[in-house]
Amino acid sequence: MPRAVSLKALVQTRAGKIVLFLIALATLAASFFYLGPYFAIPTFLLAGLGLPIYLGWKVPKHLAILGIAALLLAAPIVNYGLTSEAMTPSPAVNSSTDHGNTSTGAPVLTNATATPYNGAGGSAFAFTVDLYPNRLPTNYTPYQLWVYVSTCPGATGNSSPFCGSGYPFYPVGQNVTTVSASPTPVTFHVNLPGPNIWWWQMGLLARATTFNASANKTNTTYQWIFLAVPNAYGAVQGPITGTWATTYQLLLPQTAIDILFYPGIVFFLALLVYVFLKSREARRKAQRAASDAEMIPPTTGAPPSSTGGTPPPSASPAVTGAARRAESSCPKCGAVVYPDEKNCWKCGAPLSPGAGTPLKSGGS
Ligand SMILES: [Zn+2]
Repeated sequence: MPRAVSLKALVQTRAGKIVLFLIALATLAASFFYLGPYFAIPTFLLAGLGLPIYLGWKVPKHLAILGIAALLLAAPIVNYGLTSEAMTPSPAVNSSTDHGNTSTGAPVLTNATATPYNGAGGSAFAFTVDLYPNRLPTNYTPYQLWVYVSTCPGATGNSSPFCGSGYPFYPVGQNVTTVSASPTPVTFHVNLPGPNIWWWQMGLLARATTFNASANKTNTTYQWIFLAVPNAYGAVQGPITGTWATTYQLLLPQTAIDILFYPGIVFFLALLVYVFLKSREARRKAQRAASDAEMIPPTTGAPPSSTGGTPPPSASPAVTGAARRAESSCPKCGAVVYPDEKNCWKCGAPLSPGAGTPLKSGGS
C-alpha cells in the first residue's frame, strides 16, 4: 500500500511524468521493433495509457501529448534498428525440399547469395547459386534459371498487388540446358541503380520430356523450383545500393507511417473512449450526489451558510460536503467534475471545495 501511494505521488512530479513518458516510448519502440506493428498496439496502450492512468496521470490533454511525442520519437529510434537490420547481409539460401519437387530430399539450388551485399548505386552485383541437376525429380532436367531483382519484396513480375506497378524490376534469365554436373555454380551479373533496398528471388525451370509410344507423341512438362526464404515476403533482402545514411532515409517514411498508423490510431481511439467514459461517469456521480442531497430530510439541518451559526450536530460533515459539491463544473474547462476529486479529471485544474461552479439542479 505505501509503495503504491509513493509511486502515485512520484507521478505527480515532473520527474515522475518524464519517467512515465520514457517507459511509454521505450515500450513502443522495443515492441514495434522486436514484435512488429500489431503487437505494438496492445503494449503501447498498456504503457502509454493504462499505466499513467493507473498511477494517477489522467489529464486527457497530457496523455494525448505523451502519445504523440512517443509516436514521433519512436519512429527515428525504430528506424535506426531497421536500418542496421537491412545493412546486415542476408544468409545464403537453398531451395525448398519439402514440396515434393526433389527425388532425393536434398535442395536442387543451394548457397544462393548476392555479392557484394552493400555497394554503390550503378555497380554490378553477382547473384550466384549452386545447381544440382541430380537432385531433380525423375526425368526432369534443368531448362532455365532466373533471378528476379526488385525493390518490391517478393515480386516475380513488374506489377505486384503489394507494390502497385512502376517499381524497378530486373528479371534476368539464362539457359541451363547444358548443365549436367552436380553441383554447377551459376552466376548472374546485374547492374543496380541506387540508392535502393533490393530484394530478390531465384527460380529454376526444369522440364521433363516423355515419349508416349501408343499415341506416338512427346509430352513436355515443366516445374518451377524457387528459393525457400524464411520470411513473409518469400524474398531475399539485398543488395543495398547506397550508404547507411541513404538507407536510413529510404526506410524512415514507411517506418513513421507504420508507427503512426497501427499503435497511433488505436491509442487515440482508446483515449477518446476514455474521455467519453470518464465524462459520463462524472455526470452520473454528480447526479447521484445531487439526488442523495435532495433526500436529506430538512430536520438534519440547512447548509451552514444559511443559518449563519454552527452546523447542527446531527448533520455529518461528509453529507454536507457531498451536498455542497454535488453538482459542479470545472471553473477552467467546464467539464462536470466528481464531487470528491481534488483535481479536474479533464484539464487537471485544482478544485477547491468552493471553487466549483454550481450547475442547474437536475441538469444532465
Ligand atoms: Zn477542467
